[in-house]
Amino acid sequence: MDYEHLSENELIEKIIAAKQRYGEDLIILGHHYQRGQIVKLSDFVGDSFGLSEKAATSKAKNIVFCGVRFMAESAAILAKKNQKVYHPDPDAGCPMADMANMEQVQLAWNKITKATNQKIIPVTYMNSTAELKAFCGLMDGIVCTSSNAEKVFQWAYERGSKIFFFPDEHLGRNTGKKFKIHQDQMLLWDPHGEKMAEDKEIKSAKLILWRGHCPVHMEFKLRDVKHVRKQFPGCKVVVHPECEQEVVDASDANGSTDFIVKYVSALEPGSIVFVGTEVNLVTRLQKLNPDKKVFKLQRSLCLTMYQINLSNLAHTLDNLDKLETVNLTQETIENAKTALDRMLNLNKTSLPNSRTELTSD
Ligand code: SF4
Repeated sequence: MDYEHLSENELIEKIIAAKQRYGEDLIILGHHYQRGQIVKLSDFVGDSFGLSEKAATSKAKNIVFCGVRFMAESAAILAKKNQKVYHPDPDAGCPMADMANMEQVQLAWNKITKATNQKIIPVTYMNSTAELKAFCGLMDGIVCTSSNAEKVFQWAYERGSKIFFFPDEHLGRNTGKKFKIHQDQMLLWDPHGEKMAEDKEIKSAKLILWRGHCPVHMEFKLRDVKHVRKQFPGCKVVVHPECEQEVVDASDANGSTDFIVKYVSALEPGSIVFVGTEVNLVTRLQKLNPDKKVFKLQRSLCLTMYQINLSNLAHTLDNLDKLETVNLTQETIENAKTALDRMLNLNKTSLPNSRTELTSD
């Protein structure tokens, strides 16, 4: 069947029928950046932390992950033996996650560990390949998300004197600043740089940051924050910590997508708020908060998140028995799970409820 030529209503009907057919044997997880139609049809909506926790605790035999590849991989790592994880578009990757591969990280690790005897803890952002998570599991490291980066840094500094953080330099720098780490003690590791960092720079660094970024959050600039503050004195600005440090510093608040959802909803009626994150979430926040004036700081769309649509979701649900599941080697799964479990255990006392009541798109 050619799903691409079915109407929106036909596709929605197919998806709802598949959900009824599978009942409790199916769960659809949707990231906050998914388009509105997908959010409406998801059983749970959240940020990558909330969804990874949901994947870890779900009993459904089939998990369909509407997000980018690293998220579906994380769900597959955390899944139980009897569970299968599907990704409606296996080509939908994350440009930031693709900025660090195992070979580059291994090269950097060899150089860094050779330069100093001090204990270095590797910390990978959730937005990374399964191989890098596995590397962290093997090397006494951990995974973090934008929801728990501070807690994870605390954990890491209790066990080592340096953190090697990849692949998002901005989340790393913004979190390092909260630990009062001076810029001089943050070393930027450029995997494409002509010159490698010198041993003395590595020795004096407290935080080694990978040169990588999210193209979506790099769209928000300090001039945007200054502009809206001038146009709307008293307005609030909330951004994601994948934005550059000067943007985060100029904002009223920053945090994960779950944090942003809660921040906007807690504002007083009549408030004016500019949001610096992916446009699909901002559009939904506008509809969910009719008592406030919610604006985008800039229009910034994640094209790979947008690759998931009604056609590939309906096709996936109708062909679960024929499609390939997210496939990782057993060794990668075991080591990556070690790093992910360290993160999940750290948050056990304060797990957020990832169910969000998003009834409109
Ligand atoms: S918003 Fe940025 S970090 Fe998130 S999936 Fe898109 S490119 Fe990757």
